[in-house]
Order: sequence, then structure tokens, then C-alpha cells
Amino acid sequence: MLDIDLHCHSNVSDGVLTPAQLINRAAQRGVVVLALTDHDDVAGLDEARLAALEKNITFINGVEISVSWRGRTIHILGLNIDPEYQPLFDGLLAIRTGRTQRAQNIAAELEKAGIAGSLEGAYAYVGERGLIGRTHFARFLVEKGYAKDMKSVFKKYLVKGKPGYTSHEWAALSEAIAWIIGSGGRAVIAHPARYNLGKNVLNDLLDEFSALGGSAIEVISASHTPQQMEIFAAHARNRGLLASCGSDFHGPGESFYDLGRLPELPTGCVPVWHDWNAFQNN
Ligand code: AMP
Ligand code: MN
Ligand code: MN
Ligand code: MN
Repeated sequence: MLDIDLHCHSNVSDGVLTPAQLINRAAQRGVVVLALTDHDDVAGLDEARLAALEKNITFINGVEISVSWRGRTIHILGLNIDPEYQPLFDGLLAIRTGRTQRAQNIAAELEKAGIAGSLEGAYAYVGERGLIGRTHFARFLVEKGYAKDMKSVFKKYLVKGKPGYTSHEWAALSEAIAWIIGSGGRAVIAHPARYNLGKNVLNDLLDEFSALGGSAIEVISASHTPQQMEIFAAHARNRGLLASCGSDFHGPGESFYDLGRLPELPTGCVPVWHDWNAFQNN
């Protein structure tokens, strides 16, 4: 079984490691195919690809796009994208601009809850690209002792109904999928179990996703219990969707899963990589 990981983050978005450090860690752990999928940015791909070449890792250009769908936030992975495709590039830039504004709103909400200095505090964790998200606020809040770790900080803050939450309008599902497919990539619904969608809403999402040209769902994810992996494997099989696997690694000690060494795709799932040339060379 080849060790394949198609979902992880560098410090270009909210991961801890640089793209090159991430590749080194993947190599140490025996990963042979890796996609870097930073949130709403492709700026780490060149560095990661170069490092991967040195380590003999097959590198896949990826991105994780933040989408608003029926008032919820959904993450759509683009795999094998062309990062220079202009509509994708411009779309991601617009999302990042939105993130900057949103960060000010988050800081204002935290201020109301008596937590001062969070914007500067969060930016201290932001990488050179300036992409800011809730994870950076979470790290600041843990640093200041408002919560003991990343898991509990999200329970107490930054989620709906808690201090530091602000609603935000991301890209439309149709836009994200069009950017990905237009750039030659494949659209994948990231960690579908995490959205807690009821049966009907989930069916609507999968219908709409397929109708727009989306072709895969993440079956194996650190966000999924073994039971949820089976449930989404069944959805993939029943709907003729391809199946993907990824750790969603953000950094040592911060993620449920480290890079690679993921459970195998359940039987009957067609892997998202089944027709990739890069993969067949391995
Ligand atoms: P954002 O895109 O700025 O809304 O931030 C979303 C990111 O926050 C996710 O990609 C995770 O990295 C992190 N996150 C969200 N919920 C949790 C959680 N419960 N525990 C740890 N990290 C979380
Ligand atoms: Mn993240
Ligand atoms: Mn995600
Ligand atoms: Mn992710």
C-alpha cells in the first residue's frame, strides 16, 4: 500500500511548518504522494514541489477553498490544480482579502468579551503571506491561557454562539468548483462528516456538488471516526464519486493525525488518484 496524503497545511495558511519542512517530515514518515492544500492560497506550492523532488515524493498541487453554502462553511479541496490559472488565482486573492476584514471583526468580538490585543496577538502567528484565520486567534488564546489546547479553545471561542465568532461570506460553491475544474483540477469535498448535515441537506449538497462537476469526497480524514469513514465510503460508492484520503495535518502536536500512514480506503471505493499519471509512475 502506497502512503498517500492529499490534505495538509503549511504556514502559508494555518499550518506550523514551512512547505519544505512539511515535505521533510512527510519523507521521514514514508509518504510517497503528497498534496499541499493550504487554505485559500497556492503560494507554498513551488517551495513544496522543489523539496518533494529532492525527496522523491510525488507532489500534487492542491488548495482548500473556503465556501459558503446555505449559510454554512464548507471546504472544497482542489487537487491537481494549475495554480496560475487566473480565475482561481483571483478568486483566492478575493477570499484572502475577506479573511483580513474578518480578522478585524473577530478581534472586535473578542474585545467585547474582554479579550484585548487579539488582532496583534493572532498576527504574531501569521506567516509571511499574511493569511489569517481562526487558528491564529486560537494559538493566541491558548498562549494567553484562555484555554489549555487547540481543541478546547475552539469549544469555548471562535465557533457559532461563542465569543469571537463572526459570520462570514466565503466563495460560492459554484465558483470554487469552476475555478478548480477550469484550472484542470479535481474538486473534492473535504471532511464531509464535519459539517453535521442532516440526511436531506447532505443529499442536496452531494447532488449540487456533482451537478456542478465536483467528482470526489474525502472518505479518510482525521475529522472522521471509523464509522463515518464507512458511511462516506458508501456515499461515494452509491453516487459514483471518487474517494480521497488526507490527514489534514497542521503541525506536530496540533493535529489528530500526523502526515501519512492513514487507514486504507474501504473496499469498493475508487481512489481520486486512479487515473493520475504521476501516481502511476510510482
Ligand atoms: P478558518 O478557515 O479561519 O475559519 O479556520 C478554520 C480552521 O480552524 C480549520 O482549518 C482548522 O485548522 C481550525 N479548526 C476549526 N475547528 C477546530 C477544532 N475544533 N479544533 C482544532 N482546530 C479547528
Ligand atoms: Mn486549518
Ligand atoms: Mn478544512
Ligand atoms: Mn484542511
